[in-house]
Amino acid sequence: MSFCTAINCMDGRVQLPVIGFLQTRFKAEFVDCITEPGPVRIFAKTTDLIALNSIITRTDISVNHHGSSQIAICAHPDCAGNPVDDDAQKEQLKRSVIFLKEAYPNVNVVGIWIENNLHPQEYC
Ligand SMILES: [Zn+2]
Repeated sequence: MSFCTAINCMDGRVQLPVIGFLQTRFKAEFVDCITEPGPVRIFAKTTDLIALNSIITRTDISVNHHGSSQIAICAHPDCAGNPVDDDAQKEQLKRSVIFLKEAYPNVNVVGIWIENNLHPQEYC
C-alpha cells in the first residue's frame, strides 16, 4: 500500500479533484486527507498554534504510520476560510511549503493551487 498526504481546505469542491490529482502525481494508492479551512493561512501566520499543532500531529501519523513520503499543501480561489486575494494565497502557499520542508526534511513537499476549484496544478 502506498500513501501520500494532502493538507487541503475543508471546502467540498476541492476534495475529489485533489485526491485524483495526487494519486496520479505521487503514484499513490491512498491519499490521507487533512482538512482545515484555508490551511495555508495557518502555516503562513503561525499564530494559531492549536490549529498548527493539530495539522502537524495528523501529518506525523500519515508520515510515520502510513509511510507517506509525499505531502501536498493546497490552496484554492474563493476560500471562505482564508478570504484574501489569490496572489496573497499563493504567497501563503509558498511559505507553507517552506515550513513543511523544514518540518519534514525527508519528505517531498509540493504546493498545489486548485485553479477554478477544479484543476489542481503544481505551483511550488
Ligand atoms: Zn477554502
